[in-house]
Amino acid sequence: MTRAPLIDGHGRAIGDVRISVTDRCNFRCQYCMPAEGLPWLERSEVLTFEEITRLVTLLGQMGVHDVRLTGGEPLVRRAFPRLAGMLAALPDVKDLAVTTNGFLLERDAAALVAAGVQRFNVSIDSLQQDRFYAMTRRDALPQVLRGLEALSAFPQAHPIKVNAVAIRGFTEEEILPFARFAREYPYEVRFIEFMPLDADRTWTRESVLTGEEIRAAIHEHFPLEEAPRAPSATARVFHFADGRGQIGFINPVSEPFCGDCNRIRITAEGSLRTCLFSLNETDLRGPLRAGASDDELERLIRDAVWRKELKHHAGQPGFIQPPRTMSAIGG
Ligand code: SAM
Ligand code: SF4
Repeated sequence: MTRAPLIDGHGRAIGDVRISVTDRCNFRCQYCMPAEGLPWLERSEVLTFEEITRLVTLLGQMGVHDVRLTGGEPLVRRAFPRLAGMLAALPDVKDLAVTTNGFLLERDAAALVAAGVQRFNVSIDSLQQDRFYAMTRRDALPQVLRGLEALSAFPQAHPIKVNAVAIRGFTEEEILPFARFAREYPYEVRFIEFMPLDADRTWTRESVLTGEEIRAAIHEHFPLEEAPRAPSATARVFHFADGRGQIGFINPVSEPFCGDCNRIRITAEGSLRTCLFSLNETDLRGPLRAGASDDELERLIRDAVWRKELKHHAGQPGFIQPPRTMSAIGG
């Protein structure tokens, strides 16, 4: 069945949902989680596969065709490939993607590709083992690179994106190694500006190494040419001028792309968030478990989406950091 498109109060049609399948994670990245972890949700608080499938079905009927599964670390959720298969089989899901830290990809890449996941983002902040350890608090770079290699054996998983958070005082040393990595391997490396969603609340405007600074540093060594930008794309993509690979920049702090944001998010416990930086959210799990009909859920979703923020104010005076960290939102 088809329902009317899901439109927000500023006229933006929502086409993309990011679903956190767990708040748990096997890493403790400095910019995301505290060293000791966070108080995890009880299993009964987390949406079941059937509940997620019901919400995705309903959203699909409203034109939300792109689904990204994230977390926490999605691959630590038991039987995660089974959920991917359930969602890939839905007629309105046109694009199914996963964002992962890669630690369990060596184990799960084949099952996820077979289940129908079409696109993967693997997060890697350093290509040096000791610096990777310092950032993630896990000595896991070799395991993550093995996971990436396992995934790259599947042509249908390409192009594989590798995401690095860009933090001043850390990432400068990673710029050229990542540029070479993007030229040597079939991966599209993308730098993401550090956002104020860290548990340790160390973020400052100055701690953001901007995409433009990184682009300029790469351009000096390996000339870059900008590729045309697709509508609603978060990344600015550049080709190496000699044709060897490409590199992208996601600049939510220095160049916010709110104007054509077409995304919503659902947290692991089933709260709908209309912006990464939202201070309000809408509980969907309660109504789901109380027996709400699809029409009732649709009304709740439409109401919340209507109030979607025009833009975020991260880094501007008066900005309030949301209580949830990135791992608890689903980045
Ligand atoms: N655990 C998976 C991973 O790391 O890819 C999925 C969840 S993680 C929250 C999703 C993405 O958010 C990762 O690429 C991560 O680097 C990014 N991220 C986390 N905290 C961030 C922050 N404060 N600023 C910018 N990106 C952040
Ligand atoms: Fe875990 Fe991903 Fe957050 Fe790192 S960024 S702590 S891997 S959820």
